[in-house]
Amino acid sequence: MNKALDRSLIKRLLEADCEDPLASTDQLTSQEIPPGVDRRTFLMRSAVGGAAAVMMGHSISAQERTAKALATLPQASSPKPPLAADLNVVKKGQGPVLTTADEFYKVGPGPSSSHTIGPMRITYDFYQRATKLPADKLARATKLQVNLFGSLSATGKGHGTERAALAGLVGNEPATVDPKFLDSLRDKPDQTFPVKLGDKSINVSLKDIIYDATKGDFKHPNTMTVKVLAGDEVLLEQEYYSVGGGFIEWKGYTPPKKNPPKYPFRLMKELRAHADNNKISIAKVILANEMSIAGRTEAEVYAFIDKIINAMVATVKSGLSMPEDDVLPGPIKLHSKAATVYKRAMDDKYASDKGIGALSAFALAASEENGRGHLVITAPTGGSAGVMPALVYGLLEVRKLDRQKIRDGMLAALAVGYLCKHHATLSAAEGGCQAEIGVASSMAAALTATAYDAESRVVENAAESALEHHLGMTCDPVAGYVQVPCIERCAFGAVKAWTAYAIASNEIASRHRVDFDATVMALAETAKDMNSKYKETSEAGLALSVTLC
Ligand code: SF4
Repeated sequence: MNKALDRSLIKRLLEADCEDPLASTDQLTSQEIPPGVDRRTFLMRSAVGGAAAVMMGHSISAQERTAKALATLPQASSPKPPLAADLNVVKKGQGPVLTTADEFYKVGPGPSSSHTIGPMRITYDFYQRATKLPADKLARATKLQVNLFGSLSATGKGHGTERAALAGLVGNEPATVDPKFLDSLRDKPDQTFPVKLGDKSINVSLKDIIYDATKGDFKHPNTMTVKVLAGDEVLLEQEYYSVGGGFIEWKGYTPPKKNPPKYPFRLMKELRAHADNNKISIAKVILANEMSIAGRTEAEVYAFIDKIINAMVATVKSGLSMPEDDVLPGPIKLHSKAATVYKRAMDDKYASDKGIGALSAFALAASEENGRGHLVITAPTGGSAGVMPALVYGLLEVRKLDRQKIRDGMLAALAVGYLCKHHATLSAAEGGCQAEIGVASSMAAALTATAYDAESRVVENAAESALEHHLGMTCDPVAGYVQVPCIERCAFGAVKAWTAYAIASNEIASRHRVDFDATVMALAETAKDMNSKYKETSEAGLALSVTLC
């Protein structure tokens, strides 16, 4: 402000006696906020425009203030294109839930189901297709190439997407890949590997995995293409989508044909009606459906669930056994803390402090394993892979609950995960962290309530509460690594699951005001409205405010 303006302003303010023109912001800002603008930025711009006009001795109408404010608003980044209507993830909400346990709980290397497990499954799938090319085409093949787009490109480096994609291309599957192989790709990135195609052998390396456009008109935020080339000629190309939780689809994908479920449901309300009308638990409804949809026996379903329970226990044990001063891979140089938190929590004076500390430590342990790229279980995703194992470990290994109770809990948790996948999303690139840690916490709350023999309404209420109190949570991993805030978020997700169960089992169940289906719809709507910067792009939030040095 120059001196002349300064003096004239003071003079006018004095002349105005007590009538301070800046006293009421009502006269300065636009009271009507136009739709589709950022409220806070708009009000600020409007107030600045109004104040400037008063200071210059002009009067400015409300309409003029609005027009000026709109004209100076920063251009919004182009909105993410809506998902294509022909993607199964978009169409899925129409019929009954048909997902099965082995599609949902997947064992694979961390740190992200959509950025490591999905891409590894994709390139493994593509390799199988490529081997079926006619012999004359295979004889001409010179190169295999993977292009990563959207969020896979934006944050793939932090997730090790290129290593996962290469591992799939050379014949590894997520459940059986040796994490040491992935570590060796990180430590010696120049390695090449022969891939057999017909009579030929083509060398591939990390150079064949290309981080391509981060923005564009993609059918899904996690899009990738894989090609077999003969020089510049494309012999085979497939476009794929890693749609969250390790699930994959591709251009032209049709969901596999499945048997009808014994108890068809699209909503928690319908699921609970089956349970209540047949006087069985939610877990038993899911068990019956697993058997009818997948054509499995009860023993086969339980054998799979046992495998997952054992893997969850193993991941917590492995995480707790790591040295206290271990440093996780990546530029954050994050020290692991699970073992230290557990040891110190055991010295706490009060049992409740010990319990919360230990539960947090179990979640940190499994989540740090994810950060190391070791084997984890999607429940529902890699980033949230600490939440369910923390409760499973605590209930089975510490509280010594009967294994059958944990199996039932795992089945009830599936119901929650299925419904969130069916009507909303499990992908942070579509819905932010509420779709990962929020869903995981909700599943863990259902697990806990079921393991303690809660009635179906209490199971629903616990799952609802846990999900409700994660709504709106954004995804902003620092440096694109699934470590900060992800590892601690798993601990909070586990503790919130316990809190949700504690409230649900102690309140009067019929008075719980919000039903689970409404909260899942809120999850879907919030995911749709969330600014795309907060959907696993590392362009905002903590990813911006934390400085690494
Ligand atoms: S912030 Fe949440 S959603 Fe994003 S990577 Fe971390 S755990 Fe996953």
